[in-house]
Amino acid sequence: MTEHTLTVAGVAVDTRHWIGGERVASATTFPDVSPVDGATLGGIARGTAAEAHAAVAAAKAAFPGWAATPRARRARILHAIADGVEKRLEDLAIVETCDNGALLRSHRRGVMPRVAHNFRFFADWLLTLGHDDFDTRGHINHVSWDPAGPCVLITPWNAPLMLATWKVAPALAAGDTVVLKPAEWSPLTASLLADIAAEAGLPAGVLNVVQGYGSEIGDALTSHPDVRRISFTGSVPTARRIAASAAANLTPLSLELGGKSPLLVFADADLDLAVDLAVEQYDNAGQVCLAATRILVEETAAEEFTRRFTEKASALRQGDPRDESTDIGPNIHERQLEKIDGFVRRAVAAGARVVLGGHRGDGHYYAPTLLTDVAQDSEIVQEEVFGPVLTLQTFSTEDEAVRLANDTRFGLAATLATGDAERAARVTERLVAGTVWVNCFFVRDLRAPFGGSRHSGVGREGGTWSFDFYCDLKNTVTAP
Ligand code: NAD
Repeated sequence: MTEHTLTVAGVAVDTRHWIGGERVASATTFPDVSPVDGATLGGIARGTAAEAHAAVAAAKAAFPGWAATPRARRARILHAIADGVEKRLEDLAIVETCDNGALLRSHRRGVMPRVAHNFRFFADWLLTLGHDDFDTRGHINHVSWDPAGPCVLITPWNAPLMLATWKVAPALAAGDTVVLKPAEWSPLTASLLADIAAEAGLPAGVLNVVQGYGSEIGDALTSHPDVRRISFTGSVPTARRIAASAAANLTPLSLELGGKSPLLVFADADLDLAVDLAVEQYDNAGQVCLAATRILVEETAAEEFTRRFTEKASALRQGDPRDESTDIGPNIHERQLEKIDGFVRRAVAAGARVVLGGHRGDGHYYAPTLLTDVAQDSEIVQEEVFGPVLTLQTFSTEDEAVRLANDTRFGLAATLATGDAERAARVTERLVAGTVWVNCFFVRDLRAPFGGSRHSGVGREGGTWSFDFYCDLKNTVTAP
């Protein structure tokens, strides 16, 4: 134990950066506060441009060696990282829960196993990437997937390790080296990942972790000329800054941004299923980019849907995310809570009716909220709240449902509840969304493309699409 270690539920976490295979401190720290009870967990290295540049230099130095490492060996090391994640699953789960407030039971059973799967999946997918050959008048075209170089990966706090490894795993598999910048509100599991990767035999400098405020070190990372890819998950305003900063070097960007996704409930739907899907949108206290926060219900089913929804949502247990019986935990930060409450107050002032919740609870908790009587062009319908706040509107025709669903600047996802397969096909075709779920929600297969349309993002990741982004594709033409 050193002055640079903090302990969370008995688990020691190094609070420094991880650069070139070594722990590096900063002159100052910033406080990491747990949303569970508001306690300060400790001080985290407050990175500066100097550490950001050192991390990029380390990634650059490690790149030739890692890029030249045979695919099969890279894949073996990624599987060893997955083994390490599985071995430390309990540690990762409790640390993440204390750090970002999401449910311990989902971290244990869903999220952390999925983190390991991220590494296994991309390790295996790497081995399936073909080197296509084809003939042009006797000349042989040979297409290869070359590693691109150092990548900067910037992630948010709502699913920290899940979203980090969704980028780290394919980047490493592709033969790239990485500088990971986790969100300042949830910095801890990235530090544990650095330990796990080192133990798994990942060479020094291949994965680097820089801690700190995005506003202070972001530009140093994203404007760096040695960076070959930037993958960012977060908000639209930050994406704009990153795109402007990356423009100087024309660094390729992958952007996974916010959403305001619809849940369309048709009168022919299994209403209990539709209600379950709607209540699920409170998961992670509403801090899910994909959440279908705009419920659109066919007029004739609206009254019964609202009755059943209110009954079910009222039974949700809100409280300590470490308890097995808790359904909804806290929101991440006081600033986020003020933001959520501001959205609700302004909506009510503009005429919205509160059917459920509509207020803060103790500490970092916000009551699950449903608002009706909201105008399509109002702030609460158009802007991402990123809290447990849903709106309900009605429609009378399929055309109107599609029009309302698409009337947003976002296009991340959409969910449909209907008992009519032909209707599902018709409506799906007309929706603008990166992912459409029909009579289900949040089923994610890593082989599928993932990303958003409009302001929800630029590009797609997942399966071959990830390698498309993290590789430099090369076509070599050889004369007969
Ligand atoms: P945010 O944009 O505030 O921060 C995200 C990350 O960017 C953090 O690590 C932050 O430190 C960093 N950052 C801040 N300023 C920066 C700068 N100038 N340069 C470089 N990096 C900078 O977002 P957030 O509040 O942490 O996350 C919530 C948002 O993320 C929501 O909009 C949510 O919808 C979105 N999100 C999207 C997906 C997706 O897959 N589409 C997944 C999860 C979250």
